[in-house]
Amino acid sequence: MTQTKKLTQKYLIPCYNKLPLAFKSGKGSYLTEESGRKYLDLFSGWAVSGLGFSHPDLVKAIQKQAGTLIHVPNNFYHPEQAKLAHVIIKNSFPGKVFFCNSGAESIEGAIKLARIFGKGTRHEIITMQQSFHGRTMGALSATGQSKFHKKTKPILAGFRQVPFNDMRAIIKATNKKTVAVLLELIQGEGGVNVADLAFVKELRAYTKQRNILLIIDEVQTGMGRTGKLFCYQHYGIKPDVMLLAKALGGGFPIGALVASKTVQDVLEPGTHASTFGGSPLACSAANAVFNVLIQKKVLAKSNIVAKYMWQKLALMKAECSIIEEIRGKGLMVGIKLKQAALPAVQEAMNQGVLINATQGSVIRIAPPLTIEPKDIDKGLSILKKILMQYQN
Ligand SMILES: *Cc1c(COP(=O)(O)O)cnc(C)c1O
Repeated sequence: MTQTKKLTQKYLIPCYNKLPLAFKSGKGSYLTEESGRKYLDLFSGWAVSGLGFSHPDLVKAIQKQAGTLIHVPNNFYHPEQAKLAHVIIKNSFPGKVFFCNSGAESIEGAIKLARIFGKGTRHEIITMQQSFHGRTMGALSATGQSKFHKKTKPILAGFRQVPFNDMRAIIKATNKKTVAVLLELIQGEGGVNVADLAFVKELRAYTKQRNILLIIDEVQTGMGRTGKLFCYQHYGIKPDVMLLAKALGGGFPIGALVASKTVQDVLEPGTHASTFGGSPLACSAANAVFNVLIQKKVLAKSNIVAKYMWQKLALMKAECSIIEEIRGKGLMVGIKLKQAALPAVQEAMNQGVLINATQGSVIRIAPPLTIEPKDIDKGLSILKKILMQYQN
């Protein structure tokens, strides 16, 4: 065992199932292991490294800001923070932004915003079965998978879980205490389940009519992952609150709660805060990410690669009888197998390709938005060979 693995096993709290690899560097779509072996990353570390690894613009922005000012408290102004909030609003919907450091924290902010909006008379939030919103107690309580609740009961009161894509269940779960509906438009951890267009449109109309907030968790689907900057833009609707994290800083921790005009001033002074949220360093990273995606047209280019990938995936499905379904949008893909996904994920890793398994039988793929077609070819041809072996 290497020294890294020995020290980790001895001194790190074992809350992660570790894969037997220790990475020391990364470039583009490739990570380099301590041994020197390179791995093609088709998962971007849970869709965090949206620009791949060591993107020169991101590195430059972080280096420059680190040598200028890393942190300044939120009771002062900072140009990078102001600029980032402006960029987010300009590219989404009219409103204001609160910055935090992670996805779960953005959910916590949304829960508080909703409860304050409910003025003490409404506090219940409807969330979806199979959803995932993070590991802090509030975000965990919103998460619609009991396996995450089991050992830390009681969970927070005030959440009702309903089946995904089921408008009637939402109507049934609504009562006079209901203040918000919280959902992912593509459930990532839940198995890459895509929200139906009709369901989302109906949900938007229904919530608007009842003054119920529609909170969209774009922590994983945001920042171009699904082919548009934000996934809600596929649906022709606007949320009341949108939550961002994962790829927002291209790997540097930052989260955001984006509140539309009607609720932009609900979190008044004294109601919410974050010491590190939206630091100059974090915001400079996110500003660089937006610049690369929009000005440098990486988002537009990624759509061409995504189209190519979906053609390859269709061919793969036609040839591999163990594939039940391939679903997702843009560069967020779930391959549902008729058997467990983990053996294929492990075999892909042995062959130098990183993918993920979720919900037992779903292979999850979310390559960097900067991935080149030749690496899509390489990764998918290895995966196809593996899946072909499982036939019969
Ligand atoms: C990862 C994730 C979260 C939690 O984000 P953390 O940064 O790990 O707290 C919340 N929602 C969704 C949809 C996620 O994928």
